[in-house]
Amino acid sequence: MTGEQERLRFARALDVGTIARSGYGLSVRCTNSKCGHTRIVDAQPLFDLCRAKGWNMHLDHMMNRLKCSRCGAKWPLLKATAQPPDSGPALGPTTDEEWKRLVRRARG
Ligand SMILES: [Zn+2]
Repeated sequence: MTGEQERLRFARALDVGTIARSGYGLSVRCTNSKCGHTRIVDAQPLFDLCRAKGWNMHLDHMMNRLKCSRCGAKWPLLKATAQPPDSGPALGPTTDEEWKRLVRRARG
């Protein structure tokens, strides 16, 4: 695949489900110009979180749910990426224990 085709594929991956299924990472970039903190997270745990909570998975809606872990600014810029997740904490459940807690909360 050429770089251009690859770029278009990422540009078309506009919901967390598609990104998780494709095995892409999710780039989360703070839009506060004084901060600019960027993370690459695994899309799968975030997809699980959306499913458990019944959230809309389109990236435009996800922006509304997330905020910068460094400065707290809302509306980070979300984008599919080929880069592997960074070593920071995942967004969403990654262990059975976290899953159980999440499902309990979602029901209660
Ligand atoms: Zn920030």
